[in-house]
Amino acid sequence: MSIFSKIAAGEIPSYCCASNDEFYAFLDINPLVKGHTLVIPRREVDYIYDLTDDELARLHVFAAHVARAIKEVIPCVKVGEAVLGLEVPHAHIHLIPMQSERDMLFSNPKLQLSGEEMQSIADAIRAKVTD
Ligand code: AMP
Repeated sequence: MSIFSKIAAGEIPSYCCASNDEFYAFLDINPLVKGHTLVIPRREVDYIYDLTDDELARLHVFAAHVARAIKEVIPCVKVGEAVLGLEVPHAHIHLIPMQSERDMLFSNPKLQLSGEEMQSIADAIRAKVTD
């Protein structure tokens, strides 16, 4: 089981932002900016483009609902999307609230936020996600 499968199954704690039978969204533990969120399929697939066309489409619709909620909670110009997958072999989309394109640079230093702040960001996003 990948670390992200364990997170989606609730076996490893996470700051949950949205969840349904097929997908799970949670805060990145090493955020580039406040509200940096990961969106995953529960099905364990390493490379995102190995998902079926239908899964990929549904994943993006789910991610869009999360991105709209992030934008309501975190003041930003737009929510950017990135796919890397070089570290964790379980397909995931990064959603990153941007003030400028510099916020998308993965070489930037990561924020260190308290558990309380992470929880309150995740709670605020979860409260805004619509089906
Ligand atoms: P990448 O696979 O290159 O897209 O990077 C994996 C991302 O997952 C990184 O941004 C990590 O900070 C994040 N990450 C790794 N482990 C966890 C975890 N337990 N909870 C939340 N985010 C994580």
